[in-house]
Amino acid sequence: MSSVLFASSNENKYKEAKSILSKFDIKLSFFKCNLEEIQADTLEEIALHKVTQAFSQCSKPVIVEDDGLFIGSLNGFPGPYSAFVFKTIGNKGILELLKAKRKAKFQSVIAYCERNNDVMLFKAVVDGKISRKLMGIKWGYDPIFIPDGQNKTYAQLRDKNLVSHRYLALRKFAMWHLHGQESSDR
Ligand code: IMP
Repeated sequence: MSSVLFASSNENKYKEAKSILSKFDIKLSFFKCNLEEIQADTLEEIALHKVTQAFSQCSKPVIVEDDGLFIGSLNGFPGPYSAFVFKTIGNKGILELLKAKRKAKFQSVIAYCERNNDVMLFKAVVDGKISRKLMGIKWGYDPIFIPDGQNKTYAQLRDKNLVSHRYLALRKFAMWHLHGQESSDR
């Protein structure tokens, strides 16, 4: 069984990623750390910067994930600023900001590094909308994001890990890691 580190301060993300990759026979271990998050316009730049830092600390095959919630009627805001916005105004603040148009998408970028200066990126997007009120109790934006084709939020779905942005990006990583399929999104 192949083994990779997952560098993050967010244990929720790690647990979901571990459960997803176990289905691909990839063993994930938690490398708990606080990586510096640069202010940048894309998830890719942030993920690249973070995985390079993580690799310099652990010198082992490592992935980091950067995500963002992109709300259509807010021109993609908060996008790469999702962590900051969650900390400041939170889900209630976002529900306040939104009026009629609720289109949104969740994006995940997985960055993988096992050698200096050699980073692979795997990206996935899930289209959806923002709920009218908080629905379900879970972490982060789970209680307000409804993926297209569902009437439940991530927080209410029993199988979030079979449809999420994280699942789709990690599946791309796993296909490449195990079988050399899928090219890097860099
Ligand atoms: P980052 O990848 O840690 O920068 O995540 C950006 C923001 O999105 C943070 O506030 C996370 O808590 C939130 N987030 C990322 N992925 C998810 C998810 O799957 N569900 C709910 N919130 C998430």
